[in-house]
Amino acid sequence: MKKGVFQICYCKKCNNTIWPPREICHICNSKSDWKKSTNFGKILEFSKKESMYFGLIEIDDGIRILGNITSTSSPKVGQLVRMNVSFNSKPNYSFIVENN
Ligand SMILES: [Zn+2]
Repeated sequence: MKKGVFQICYCKKCNNTIWPPREICHICNSKSDWKKSTNFGKILEFSKKESMYFGLIEIDDGIRILGNITSTSSPKVGQLVRMNVSFNSKPNYSFIVENN
């Protein structure tokens, strides 16, 4: 993983998304490869803790990630979010609600 770039592990042969990433596809046993994520997803569920929103987000290709949600108003299930990845000792995922 490069700084700020989130990549998705997928199978070159059957195009299956492999999450969590593995070297070998569990469907056809071919070698996996990496592609860049679109970094866009939608809110599946969320909760509020103190003044912070925290939720489960599905980003492209059905990958589900937990992270903080930044929103000026109360988030809604199904809302479009943009993912930011920062790295400390491990990746930290945060999501920003896209207002349109
Ligand atoms: Zn495969």
